[in-house]
Amino acid sequence: MKALEEKILKEGTVLPGDVLKVGSFLNQRVDTVFLKKMAEETKRLFEGIEVTKVLTVEASGIAFATAVAMELGVPMVFAKKHPSANVSGEQYFSPVYSFTHKTTYDIAVSKEYIQPTDKILITDDFLANGNALKGLIDIVKQAGAKVAGCCAEIEKGFQGGGDALRAAGYKVESLAIVEKMENGSIVFRG
Ligand code: 5GP
Repeated sequence: MKALEEKILKEGTVLPGDVLKVGSFLNQRVDTVFLKKMAEETKRLFEGIEVTKVLTVEASGIAFATAVAMELGVPMVFAKKHPSANVSGEQYFSPVYSFTHKTTYDIAVSKEYIQPTDKILITDDFLANGNALKGLIDIVKQAGAKVAGCCAEIEKGFQGGGDALRAAGYKVESLAIVEKMENGSIVFRG
């Protein structure tokens, strides 16, 4: 998505450790007009594929997943990262290694929110090594549901998570794929 690439070049900052900071429009301050455009583009990319739910992980995945789910007219479910008093009943769990926090934690989804008949579009803000998406795929499988595809707002292609999932047969679409981040400059996959 050209407009997203332009926005990343204009507003993004490369931090040490291969972290791209896009807090001005995506991670902390959310550009809602642009978010809608990204959701519309996601709908276009998954045209013709049946989706009954959008699944993401808290916290920074929620805005995009909600916007996509609204475009598709389906519910959005997010996995919790922390044990919560608001969750009752049985849950699916999957361990996820966090790229940003360098620790492993369990993500959890209440069993009542995913049915075996669901066709699930998994979304996230970033796709790096693919651990967050793999954890969400694991939860969809535990529920006996189907993965309709995966979509990240920004994929860091050089970290390989997206290509590994494509090689495993999943439809993975990212709205922008960063191929290189060197000396503060950002190069997109052509
Ligand atoms: P993965 O699990 O694919 O290695 O990393 C994806 C997760 O880590 C996303 O949920 C995202 O929150 C976080 N993440 C990974 N790389 C970046 C980055 O460069 N910038 C930001 N803001 N978050 C990232």
